[in-house]
Amino acid sequence: MIEVPCAVCGKPIQGLSVNSTPAARLTCSESCHERFVNFLIFKYGPCKKIGRVRTGETFRVPLRDIIEHGVKEQELDKYPKWEEKDGNSN
Ligand SMILES: [Zn+2]
Repeated sequence: MIEVPCAVCGKPIQGLSVNSTPAARLTCSESCHERFVNFLIFKYGPCKKIGRVRTGETFRVPLRDIIEHGVKEQELDKYPKWEEKDGNSN
């Protein structure tokens, strides 16, 4: 059995399986997950600039979506385009 500590409180995460999402491998509970997401949003900003290599387009993707689901290239179209005038919050 694998034991991975929670990124927020350090307790071992229970019930991990090969089907666990990447986000589920990081924290032990829903409340730790919320704290973790809020910490990353505070640190890195609410959105991240994700580029599509093939076309050079960039999209404004919420950090929460990246953490909780991961974002595939074919899903980028549902996000708004990143306009340079918005600046780069990174
Ligand atoms: Zn925890």
